[in-house]
Amino acid sequence: MTQPVFRFAPSPNGYLHLGHALSALLNFEMARAAGGRFLLRMEDIDATRCRPAFEAAILEDLAWLGIEWDGPVRRQSEHLDDYRAALARLGAMRLTFPSFESRAELAHLVADRESHARWPRDPDGVPVYPGTARQMPEAERQARIARGDAYAVRLDMEKAVEWTGPLHWTEIGEGPSGEGGTVAVEPQAWGDVIVGRKDAPASYHLAVVVDDALQGVTHVVRGQDLFWSTSVHRVLQALLDRSAPVYRHHRLVLDSEGRKLSKSTAATGLRELRTRGLSARDIRRMLKQDVHGMV
Ligand code: GLU
Repeated sequence: MTQPVFRFAPSPNGYLHLGHALSALLNFEMARAAGGRFLLRMEDIDATRCRPAFEAAILEDLAWLGIEWDGPVRRQSEHLDDYRAALARLGAMRLTFPSFESRAELAHLVADRESHARWPRDPDGVPVYPGTARQMPEAERQARIARGDAYAVRLDMEKAVEWTGPLHWTEIGEGPSGEGGTVAVEPQAWGDVIVGRKDAPASYHLAVVVDDALQGVTHVVRGQDLFWSTSVHRVLQALLDRSAPVYRHHRLVLDSEGRKLSKSTAATGLRELRTRGLSARDIRRMLKQDVHGMV
């Protein structure tokens, strides 16, 4: 049997909070219990929001929690060629297209459509891509690229789904409405997702799939907020001929008003709790309901 491989993959665009602590501890404890490896990856392709100081703070907070990782930290920003290769492969399969619209243009297109009827949102609540660049004539595309116009690369989801056929994933946790076991992949609700950003040759979806495969990750343990993204990830795994890990989505830690924690909610930030005198044991105790008995 292959050795199980787990990972914690924060984005260094803020400080860790209790929700991150739960993810990190679950991965660490599950890896230990299974005699597996636990990897740490910095998802830092968004150069506008990620900062070395946040990475340093994450490493410090994890060490404080008593979490140790195996091998060097993988930084996505140091592996852009891996994502370029994956993008090129999807391009050669004719499953992607350049999308030149600015944010303002997209907002305008959505507003325009909403004057007739409500335009659909993706599972994250963002309006589905309303553009028509999928149908742009090839000559026009080439002319705009030659002119130096910035563009994101989008996956033609309909074509992609046609290519892969029906897919599913194995869920050993549960989705927001209790989904579990064998979950059917339904990526259409996402529309033509971005696989290459305007400023980087990858998006979160593409980089996570490429890295999980490259690092031999067998178990993806992360928050339920990413449950529906797994459909996109499974499609990309199938297109790129990568094997699928097993998934466990865990409950989100909520604030006292029942809202999802954000990196700016200092009250539940690990540094804040530490400054208030809490110990790593206290944090584990607070999260025990989830960490205990799950390994
Ligand atoms: N980098 C993502 C985040 O900070 C997590 C990605 C994942 O676990 O798949 O939310």
